[in-house]
Amino acid sequence: MTSIFTPSPKPSIEQDQFLTIRSREEALARFEAALFPRQLPSETRRLADALGRALAEDVVAPIDVPPFDRSNVDGFAVRSADLARASEGTPVRLALTDETISCGIAPTRPVLPGTATAIATGGPVPRGADAIVMIEHTQPVGEAGGDGAIEVRRAASPGQFVSYAGSDIARGEALLRSGTIVGSREIGMLAACGIAEVLVTRRPRVAILSTGDELVQPGDGLRPAAIYDTNGAIVTAAIAENGGDASFLGAIADNAAMLEAAMRKALADSDMLVLSGGTSKGAGDVSHRIIGGLGKPGIIAHGVALKPGKPLCLAVCDGKPVVILPGFPTSAMFTFHDMIVPVLRRMAGLPPRSDAKVAVKVPVRIASELGRTEFVMVSLVEGADGLIAYPSGKGSGAITSFAQADGFLKIEALADQLPGGSEAEVTLFTPHVRVPDLVIVGSHCTGLDLVTAPLAHAGLVVRSIAVGSLGGLAAAKRGECDLAPIHLFDDKTETYNTPYLADGLELVPGWRRMQGIVFRKDDTRFAGLSAEQAVRAALADPACIMVNRNQGAGTRILIDRLLAGSRPDGYWNQPRSHNAVAAAVAQHRADWGMTIAPVAHASGLGFIPLAEEHYDFALVTARKQRPAVQAFLDALASEEGRAALVRAGFRPA
Ligand code: AMP
Ligand code: MG
Repeated sequence: MTSIFTPSPKPSIEQDQFLTIRSREEALARFEAALFPRQLPSETRRLADALGRALAEDVVAPIDVPPFDRSNVDGFAVRSADLARASEGTPVRLALTDETISCGIAPTRPVLPGTATAIATGGPVPRGADAIVMIEHTQPVGEAGGDGAIEVRRAASPGQFVSYAGSDIARGEALLRSGTIVGSREIGMLAACGIAEVLVTRRPRVAILSTGDELVQPGDGLRPAAIYDTNGAIVTAAIAENGGDASFLGAIADNAAMLEAAMRKALADSDMLVLSGGTSKGAGDVSHRIIGGLGKPGIIAHGVALKPGKPLCLAVCDGKPVVILPGFPTSAMFTFHDMIVPVLRRMAGLPPRSDAKVAVKVPVRIASELGRTEFVMVSLVEGADGLIAYPSGKGSGAITSFAQADGFLKIEALADQLPGGSEAEVTLFTPHVRVPDLVIVGSHCTGLDLVTAPLAHAGLVVRSIAVGSLGGLAAAKRGECDLAPIHLFDDKTETYNTPYLADGLELVPGWRRMQGIVFRKDDTRFAGLSAEQAVRAALADPACIMVNRNQGAGTRILIDRLLAGSRPDGYWNQPRSHNAVAAAVAQHRADWGMTIAPVAHASGLGFIPLAEEHYDFALVTARKQRPAVQAFLDALASEEGRAALVRAGFRPA
């Protein structure tokens, strides 16, 4: 990736543009200046189909609502002057007319002095009447069968219980303004006026293309070295979420002729084109070179001081925005939300997003690159005094960091770090924070998912943040989590975990994970050997490549002991997870490594057991009585929990 920022000997125009890294603000301002103001196309939609759209013109009320003076209660339409002297001591008697005004009945008889007409809620007030008396405040009088009369024992003020014509909506009044987003309440107002269709801003038609030889669509089989097209699906959804009419046109190989044809066709049929990938200066990255020929003025900014998202390319081709998002899904999403959503919403006639924000404390230092506006995804947990935000990013290539994060915080371009303990503001991905019921911070294990499954099914929100054993222990000591899963071996005492506990923490035994040597089942070099013999055999064969583990991993200690100072080929390949070791061996990038039994078996690899690792929990004693913690302890001890662990290859303690 760094090579893209090195000028080539003969830079093309596009490369020149890319070398001019612009600030986020400048890039956005240039993009917006090239696109706005503009006439937004509109269309007439029936009410039900107008939901969520922006009105393209003011709507004026064509009628009064209510259309007539209307009774608000069940009772009698009266002349208030008749009741001026009515009281408990001096009831006034009114003769009833011979009609009853129900809803939908137009009155025919006037209410003359000394008379009243029975009327229902919603009935039109008859001529002559100027008030309604509630039925509860009257007494029927006169013999049964005869013309009725009522007695009233309290005065009525003029207009009492009457809604006058136009008192809700007056004919000629501006009912809704252009730009209003049509929701159920607006639909109600329009329906009350008898309006069946409205003019709304047409949704911008946005074409989406993914680019890359390596991309396979979800649902199709994954060939070696290929990955699933994530951006296609995620960008399509995000465009629909922000008022666009998205059509995903698939992934195009890194082939200039094919890509140009696809881009021309996509742009001809739409108002906007969003691509992803191929924006760097890599050999296959061609999309930005094509843009110049698609329309004027072409590229507006290529290279924005954003992290993640530096290679973003913004262009305008004959009035239509053309955007190339970075290839990494997380980078693609951040740049999309930060730089593209404002433009898309303006084109859809929608107001800027108003994302909810919360104040947090950040317990750990976050390093940041000077000169780039940096977005850091965070998970929120409840601390002793307020919300705590943990950075949850796994780097710009990680898609799970998006799904597991609650929101993000922004580190300004001029800062080179956010010190540990800083106050910060988090922009939430969803309108409300749902603070988790159970917070697990530490080393991750697939066994955890088995134990917490019943909690999740019972509606408890479990948040598990993978920061490694030591990071978890530190969080537990600060009281920022309920449980810290750890597997820390102490050389001195030759025991696991207990020596690492501190005041306020207690050990909850978890399960044992058998560690051992993994190899491909058809590799006869290792058949029938013990772990020590297998390593000796590997060291004796110079063609045999190993895969190591990262410094600090419990597994690494075991490997180093077995190697006893040897540094065979592959020693410096030091991935950070059990799964990566298995993948390296399964894909022939290495011939042996050390991982845990469940991972080896899930990958279909041969496994030679060596030693059991203790995966336990440091429990924050002060939080032990919390219902979710109790539910976790119950699940861990339960028959079903233990059986699930055994099925997956773990040995409950
Ligand atoms: P590029 O900018 O094309 O060099 O892509 C940068 C990285 O993002 C590479 O690892 C690509 O494989 C990856 N990438 C590009 N497009 C997609 C996509 N649509 N979905 C998932 N990953 C992608
Ligand atoms: Mg690519």
